Amino acid sequence: NDLASLMDVSVNEVISVCMGLGMFVSINQRLDAEAITIIADEFNYDVEFTKSDEEEAEIKVEEDPEQLVERAPIVTIMGHVDHGKTSLLDYIRRSKVTHGEAGGITQHIGAYDVETTDGHKIAFLDTPGHEAFTAMRARGAKITDVAIIVIAADDNVMPQTKEAINHAQVAGVPMIFAINKIDRPNANADKIREELANMNLLVEDWGGKYQSQEISAKTGAGIDDLLEKVLLESEILELKANPKKNAVGTVVEASLDKGRGYVTTIMVQGGTLKVGDTILAGQHYGRVKAMFDHLGQKVEAAGPSTPVQVLGLSGAPQAGDVFKVYDSEREAREIANSREQIQREQSLRTKKHITLDEIGRRLAIGSFKELNIIIKGDVDGSVEALSDSLLKLSKEEVKVSIIHQGVGQISESDVLLASASDAIILGFQVRPSANAKRLAEQEEIEIRHYSIIYDAINQIKDAIEGMLEPEF
Ligand code: GDP
Repeated sequence: NDLASLMDVSVNEVISVCMGLGMFVSINQRLDAEAITIIADEFNYDVEFTKSDEEEAEIKVEEDPEQLVERAPIVTIMGHVDHGKTSLLDYIRRSKVTHGEAGGITQHIGAYDVETTDGHKIAFLDTPGHEAFTAMRARGAKITDVAIIVIAADDNVMPQTKEAINHAQVAGVPMIFAINKIDRPNANADKIREELANMNLLVEDWGGKYQSQEISAKTGAGIDDLLEKVLLESEILELKANPKKNAVGTVVEASLDKGRGYVTTIMVQGGTLKVGDTILAGQHYGRVKAMFDHLGQKVEAAGPSTPVQVLGLSGAPQAGDVFKVYDSEREAREIANSREQIQREQSLRTKKHITLDEIGRRLAIGSFKELNIIIKGDVDGSVEALSDSLLKLSKEEVKVSIIHQGVGQISESDVLLASASDAIILGFQVRPSANAKRLAEQEEIEIRHYSIIYDAINQIKDAIEGMLEPEF
């Protein structure tokens, strides 16, 4: 998608070139340097690689092994709605936050860290769910070390459980299954283990490789054991970082606070962040004026795997943006400015009105929620049938609206309506008038022609699903 934008061609063209090269890619898939060069060449573009966010984010690069010390794991909790993700995060926060001796009150800053009974630290991302996880990944962030998949023992492995598992697997993040709500009389943990086994996910108790733990987020049963298992998993991962260099990490969330200005929660992943450091995150930079932990207490420095709230950035970066400390404020400003310019150019290149091919790109910019459609057809029956079927394609994330339908030629007024409401026009066995055609070209309104209802439905469905695919 990004590559298509840069070359100003449609995403479908890029995907079909990829297929021609034997690469089956989705719209948000990241391509490696070699693939980009080959694809760009197909479109007669030369590629020059400059320093990218991802390279800057490569936290492990060229580390001096002497400087590396163990760091705490960073955990994301995922699972089906109502299976207990929030309850688990809350229970852990309430019961394990020990270093708040000074009497801090827990603040929701998007992440927190705890100390286990035997003194080990674990950091949690406080936005449960795979949507947030994947949105961050789509921005290049590699922040989660271990995923806890929560499954309610009085329910089943549900669609979002499967999605969460799938997203963790594609990201290569190890999973631990937390079989929750075992305090409930109708809880049946064996049934959950069996369902997992049926998906080829055999848990350790049954001789498989996946750790699992029965818990109750309500009574706290099993939660210490669950945290032990997180630590075990992280030992295997040998998580290390160099605390002595300039800090790098990822933005967890950001907002504008009336009194304090831009407030950004970041997860430090390498180095140590200090008050007074100049940092750059996304298009925004600034000097760290003050830092707070998740208890609202002032801190002067934050090392690897520590989440902190930072004051002093010039704007609100996006969750998943990489941040980095720069020695020179001028350098940080220059990079921020050039990023802003690139973003501006890319959004200018975005087409005036929606087209089916454009949907994925708009979604990536975060500005697509509703697909407006105008249907014109030769007979009432087919217009009705098409409209009914298209309405059924609506999903929670993207609503399909038929803003107008009718029998007859596609007219100038149809095009004007499309222009005003950013719609596409579907013609079923009908064509636009000459004037309508001219106006559509001028207004950049997409008109699609069909003679088979099924084709129309499929194309719209593909467009919507293309943009709903997990973003890898
Ligand atoms: P989420 O949507 O996954 O974040 O789920 P929540 O944490 O909001 O939990 C959904 C509901 O299940 C709430 O009413 C919780 O009180 C309840 N719940 C969560 N964990 C447990 C548990 O271990 N035992 C019982 N009995 N109820 C639980």
